[in-house]
Amino acid sequence: MRKWVLGLVLAMGGMESAMAQDWAIVVHGGAGVIARADLSAEQEQAYRAAMGRATQAGAAVLADGGSALDAIEAAITLMEDDPLFNAGRGAVFTAEGRNELDASIMDGASLKAGAVAGVTATRHPIRLARAVMDHSPHVMLAGRGADAFSEAQGLEQAPPAHFFTERRWRALETFLRQAGLPAPVRPAGIAAPDAAERLAHDEGKHGTVGVVARDQAGHVAAGTSTGGTTGKRWGRVGDSPIIGAGTYASDASCAVSATGTGEYFIRLAVAREVCALVEHRGLSLQAAADLVIQDKLTALGGDGGVVAVAPDGQMAWSFNTSGMYRAKMGAGQPLQIGIYKDEP
Ligand code: ASP
Repeated sequence: MRKWVLGLVLAMGGMESAMAQDWAIVVHGGAGVIARADLSAEQEQAYRAAMGRATQAGAAVLADGGSALDAIEAAITLMEDDPLFNAGRGAVFTAEGRNELDASIMDGASLKAGAVAGVTATRHPIRLARAVMDHSPHVMLAGRGADAFSEAQGLEQAPPAHFFTERRWRALETFLRQAGLPAPVRPAGIAAPDAAERLAHDEGKHGTVGVVARDQAGHVAAGTSTGGTTGKRWGRVGDSPIIGAGTYASDASCAVSATGTGEYFIRLAVAREVCALVEHRGLSLQAAADLVIQDKLTALGGDGGVVAVAPDGQMAWSFNTSGMYRAKMGAGQPLQIGIYKDEP
């Protein structure tokens, strides 16, 4: 009997240390109308490679014992520099022909969070969201004040030309023509599109990026960064910088990052709703994500999806669009990348 108890204790100790070394990361690069027929083999390859690079950058931080927050920052900054995504360089334009960027980050261990809306000159808005969390008493800063805080924090600033991409400009022109609105003057000093930009696919209004991670200490975190929606007006802000809507993390339940038409995600408080179902109803992470996206969001007429991770290492994604750029990886689990609905 004593031997049996000793064996059990040793086995449980082994389980605990295996758990302690676990880490997991799930990444999205936006959801939208992404059909197989629309992407050339070269474009598909470019997106898969970009998703892989971002996921592996975050995974490297986690495998090294780094925090979920640092992993998120590592992955999102890469995507913010990549013109394929609607975040940082490659962000969509407002009706006035500007880039107004939104981002947020949340730490599941402390429930601390930082968010920015409508910032115009920060190269990496996710870093600015993190600075709001780490170096201000606030959770959310917007517009000119957020730009000023970014400068005061010494974050890298970038001119409008840095964020400009030809295809997003063309998407704006099409949007404004259809809406019967005047086209803004094209910004001066724009370089010709580079090779990476030419591979970008117009997935509709979306392309937001988001990352959720679980680190070796068992903490979860979530981050999201976006240019919002093409042709937005009047200082429109979507779900991405709203804690509880586009981003949420709590060690008591899970971490979620969303993408899709933000207005619906705000109404349903999608990110928090997924975590609430895990916390209060005891649903598995996948069941909670599916309930919110496939049932509630769909019933409301919204489109988009989420990625999620739980402190016990569960990973999930769910979307009701024809595609979502997505990838996941865990300790001892290989990198898995998907674009279309029929992929696992
Ligand atoms: N959710 C973002 C917004 O509404 C857009 C997106 O995910 O593509 O601003």
